[in-house]
Amino acid sequence: MPVICDRLREAILSFLFPPVCTCCATLLPPPGALLCPACHSRVQTITQDDPLFFLACRRLCEDGPCADVVSAYRFEKDGPVQALMHALKYRGGTMVGRRLGAQLGQLILMRPWAPMIEVVVPVPLHRARLRERGYNQAELFARGIGSVLGLPVSTSGIRRIRCTQSQTTLGYAERQGNVHSAFEPCLRGRHTLRGKTVLLVDDVITTGATIRACAMALVEKTGCKVFAASIAQADQDS
Ligand SMILES: [Zn+2]
Repeated sequence: MPVICDRLREAILSFLFPPVCTCCATLLPPPGALLCPACHSRVQTITQDDPLFFLACRRLCEDGPCADVVSAYRFEKDGPVQALMHALKYRGGTMVGRRLGAQLGQLILMRPWAPMIEVVVPVPLHRARLRERGYNQAELFARGIGSVLGLPVSTSGIRRIRCTQSQTTLGYAERQGNVHSAFEPCLRGRHTLRGKTVLLVDDVITTGATIRACAMALVEKTGCKVFAASIAQADQDS
């Protein structure tokens, strides 16, 4: 039923709003594509020999609480991935989020540990931020991943208890301090997530401080095993 609803919603949206490239607004030749071929060719995937990937592995896995990390794309300022992230705010944003999530889900399926995952958890926003923005982009991605993996998405197990300042101008050490103890499993989460193998999802990993702090709370307070995933990874200078 949800699949039929998604398709119906997509059909209505493409009728009301003729599909255009999310990045450059030209009419899209391939049906259902989010980007035109020219913009699509500028999307850079994150490969396992990418220095950004090495850095994320070191901070999140070797020196951090995660068992592994998967990201789909490189985030470039003013690039097509930024345009896709920006599109989440506007019409059809839910559909864009779910489709990006589904693409990441396909990458996760290729990992040997994919069958171990029991639940998908988006990195939560503080409730004040959620009220201001109206949606949590990580949740949209988590729902796309959940549909590909056939897994439940939990949005009530862990919450953000501190409304941290914007991180864009902070370095890694400052960001770590900024988000330290920002996440706390709620009473229900301590029970429902206890001992589970979790896929923790965020939109963009820059220094990794946010997803690291959230994973740390899940590992230390609920005994979870955590795999991390993000749609994109960004250079700190992006
Ligand atoms: Zn384009």
